[in-house]
Amino acid sequence: MQSFSAKPVLEIKLDKIKANFLTLKEKLDARTSLASVVKANSYGLGADRIAPYLYHLGCREFYVTSIDEALDLRRHLSLDAGIYILHGIAKDETPLAIEQNFIPVLNSMSDVESLKGTKIKASLHIDTGMNRLGFDNADLQKLKSNRQALQSFDIKYIMSHLACGDEKGHPKNRKQLEDFKNLVQELGIKAKLSFANSGGVFLGQDYHFDQVRTGAAIYGIGQKVAAVGVIQNTISVKAPILQIRDVKAGETVGYGANYLVKTPTKLATISVGYADGIIRAFEGGGCALLGGSKCKIVGRVSMDVLVLDVGCVKAPIALGDMAEVLGDFQTADDAAALTGTIGYEILTNLGQRYKKVYTG
Ligand SMILES: *Cc1c(COP(=O)(O)O)cnc(C)c1O
Repeated sequence: MQSFSAKPVLEIKLDKIKANFLTLKEKLDARTSLASVVKANSYGLGADRIAPYLYHLGCREFYVTSIDEALDLRRHLSLDAGIYILHGIAKDETPLAIEQNFIPVLNSMSDVESLKGTKIKASLHIDTGMNRLGFDNADLQKLKSNRQALQSFDIKYIMSHLACGDEKGHPKNRKQLEDFKNLVQELGIKAKLSFANSGGVFLGQDYHFDQVRTGAAIYGIGQKVAAVGVIQNTISVKAPILQIRDVKAGETVGYGANYLVKTPTKLATISVGYADGIIRAFEGGGCALLGGSKCKIVGRVSMDVLVLDVGCVKAPIALGDMAEVLGDFQTADDAAALTGTIGYEILTNLGQRYKKVYTG
């Protein structure tokens, strides 16, 4: 029987989340509210623990995707925390939403028609160039000629969303900003304004208005939007060694037998795989930290395990020793760059099988 747990561990460093939250806060004027985006279970890191922690740091506005996420979140946040629902709600959910201090986002005139007359708090999302969600031009014209449609709502924010907030020099940022200001003025509805995501915070105070909506920067991904070292990694993914074996030159490793052992070495199989978000593309250059040495991932990443070449490790190694796959030495952003995706996707893919440990 194994004398150790075979479970991989996802460590979430609350002190780093705090540092990132305070770094963001420092960028803002006192009038700007720092809202936390905790959709998709806090980008996979656990909204049940992270949202109350952010509340404790002073955050009172949270964003989720759906009413299901909002209801889950409400079990961990007192009623004074407003929970904004990006995809809105159905008409028959309005009594529940009012009772629970949920604030649906109205993305179109049909959302307005559906919820009007209910005296509910809401945000109005106008599209300024994403062409994804939010009032398009045709719906904005309808709204302008029928402003009383909004009369029964308590409009908290008029919001829009940046397409290129993570690219500082992109001309679309300034264009969206100007369009947002113009559209808000033309609408003539008195409400607070919300525009920037994490990237937008680092574009300067012109972009901040009354509320910013930040996810990535709190969780330590998308770090390139800030100067080096400003946004910190918040996670460590580790998995224990299940088996160690010696291999001779000429042997192969894993599915497809596509990795050929060139010189005799030692391999360690660790209990983390693509079902835990360590995607197969990692094979092409990913590594893990074991006993202070960087070990190459060799052969295909399997669903539940991957294999490391541990021939370079000087320290003695044993079954159950933990190898780190993501951490300060290889962040989710680094892993993303290596595998052709973004840090967001790496985090939200980590999945349910980890033992989650919150430290700091
Ligand atoms: C997800 C999302 C955000 C958060 O973006 P980050 O880049 O993670 O800060 C903000 N606003 C909207 C509308 C979103 O969908």
